[in-house]
Amino acid sequence: MPAELNFQQQLTGCFGQPVSENPTQAMVEAAYRHHGLDWRYLTIEVAPDGLADAVAGAGAMGFVGFNCTIPHKVAVIQHLDGLGESAEVMGAVNCVVRRDNQWIGENTDGKGFVEGLQQLVDPTGKRVVIFGAGGAGRAISVEVALAGATEIIIVNRSVERGEELVALLNERVPAKSTFVPWEGDYAIPANTDIVVNATSIGLYPDVDARLELDVNTLTANMVVADVIPNPPKTRLVREATERGCAVIDGLGMLVNQGVIGIKYWSGIDPDPGVMRKALEDIFGT
Ligand code: NDP
Repeated sequence: MPAELNFQQQLTGCFGQPVSENPTQAMVEAAYRHHGLDWRYLTIEVAPDGLADAVAGAGAMGFVGFNCTIPHKVAVIQHLDGLGESAEVMGAVNCVVRRDNQWIGENTDGKGFVEGLQQLVDPTGKRVVIFGAGGAGRAISVEVALAGATEIIIVNRSVERGEELVALLNERVPAKSTFVPWEGDYAIPANTDIVVNATSIGLYPDVDARLELDVNTLTANMVVADVIPNPPKTRLVREATERGCAVIDGLGMLVNQGVIGIKYWSGIDPDPGVMRKALEDIFGT
């Protein structure tokens, strides 16, 4: 029986709280049940020094793929046979797929984000402001640029991380990218089309933490997205909704990266509604 292996080292990492049921597992297995796939998606902890054996073991046991998260997203690359385009640019893999008996590393975080974005706005030719230069900021900025955004502003607290990401973007993707050190409330430039929180600000339990942003500069023509899945209705999501912006919450990104992973592994285009419902049952709406 084919199976997926989720090399998930820290169950609390993405979700901010210990969970009785792993949300990703619940979401993916809801899709398997809905589409009649007799598969499992397992959550397995792998220590850094066991990664090579785990990848070899996944192959030996006939797994069709696996997700991997911190601390394995970069380290796993040396154990793979090839990389998809955006994973190669980012230097990070969160989804591994067996293709022609080879392990190919993909990055579905940014792809999932762009999938959700495209339902509201075509990123082609757009100006995007992204708060954060960590894993999520990197994945989203690379993928929106590959999807056609022409200008990207990275706003980040740590200057070194922000400058490093902007250098990568200017070298590897066609968009013009600029770094702005995050000092006090950031005013969104008037001609911005898309605003993204790709930091961990707002993640449970710090649900009232405030993104240092002048909310009066958010206007109804902007699309505002938040990567935080728990809780989905973050302070930013609420404030942007009040100002008439179209809003994408963190559950949307989580669902869409799961949809892409399942499509890669099985060829089936899974129903995102079933997957979102499984997450809402865990996180609330
Ligand atoms: P990283 O640790 O790689 O990066 C964290 C980012 O947040 C950095 O830019 C960091 O800035 C910034 N940051 C954290 N705290 C503060 C603060 N108090 N003030 C200003 N900046 C801050 O994490 P990831 O990028 O991997 O993940 C970020 C968030 O994205 C997580 O909460 C995770 O839940 C979410 N996520 C959601 C996904 C989804 O599918 N919905 C998928 C992947 C991630 P600095 O560089 O200065 O430290």
